[in-house]
Amino acid sequence: MNKPKSKKMENQLTIIGSGPAGLTAALYAARGNLNPLVIEGFPAGGQLTLTTDVENYPGFPDGIMGPELMDKFKEQSVRFGAEIVNGEIAKVDFSSSRLRLFLDDETEIETKSVIISTGASAKMLGLEEESLLLGKGVSTCATCDGFFFRDQIVTVVGGGDSAMEEALFLTKFARKVYLIHRREIFRASQIMLDRAKANPKIEFILNTEIKKINNPDENKVTNAILHNKKTSGTTELDTDAVFIAIGHIPNTDIFKDYLDLNENGYILTKEGTKTNIPGVFACGDVQDWEYRQAVTAAGSGCMAAIDTERYLSNLK
Ligand code: NAP
Repeated sequence: MNKPKSKKMENQLTIIGSGPAGLTAALYAARGNLNPLVIEGFPAGGQLTLTTDVENYPGFPDGIMGPELMDKFKEQSVRFGAEIVNGEIAKVDFSSSRLRLFLDDETEIETKSVIISTGASAKMLGLEEESLLLGKGVSTCATCDGFFFRDQIVTVVGGGDSAMEEALFLTKFARKVYLIHRREIFRASQIMLDRAKANPKIEFILNTEIKKINNPDENKVTNAILHNKKTSGTTELDTDAVFIAIGHIPNTDIFKDYLDLNENGYILTKEGTKTNIPGVFACGDVQDWEYRQAVTAAGSGCMAAIDTERYLSNLK
């Protein structure tokens, strides 16, 4: 659905975000007659729309593609009456019990309750040239950009499951995949690490950080300057692309003036999915820095809808 025509709307429940948490909350809330309005955000469908095979979502023994799984989530919530709006919330005002949300086109939504499921975004290395080269050889999404590096040399940064997954995916296209990690101990699960290590196209470079990504004609990456933390040596690595897979930052910037966050910016919840503001609930990766799985996000979305239903019925 497109953005609402009126510049002011009122409703009972607005859900911000459309990943597994948000759309599960929408499904349960719609079935509870709360007529939820879901503001999709970007990317619509959340992080799973940027991934390929999902092998660990229960109910799909042969796995399912991330975008297809999210289409199914959406279809199921719409079937029970959830209204999905394509757009982003740019600002919120939680200073009174009239909870107010402002869409990026300045449409104002006054709502009795809010479920925040804005997820988390990819972390960057912090190099000067990184953002300039995004989409021109630097990427945070192998699924989106791997195809462009057929038969080329690519580099993945990180030591977690995301890095292993990106590296393995890239072996479908690239002729060589370097995996650079700043330590020699990994956060990745053993099964993912073993798969990456067993792949002959992947070469691990450990105890190493990227200091610079070179791009002589500004449109193409040619090499990266590496710093070995053990030897303090500097080397140059020929590579056509750098895929950054070093974790995520919760998308909580617009809430920080109102909600209690932890030191890393994740929303603090208590007694299920309640935040410090009555009527505002949070679920999924925006409040979960530990498990961060689609299935746990979906579970917490269900909890948020039940918590909201109880809150709204106590208001009446
Ligand atoms: P993560 O587990 O937090 O790992 C991030 C990695 O990036 C760490 O190895 C970290 O190094 C490194 N790193 C962080 N900042 C860095 C920097 N500035 N420079 C260089 N390296 C840096 O994040 P993730 O891999 O995104 O995984 C997040 C969660 O999603 C995990 O629970 C994971 O299991 C899950 N996940 C699951 C799957 C799957 O099951 N298929 C796929 C992807 C993700 P240090 O170790 O030195 O801190």
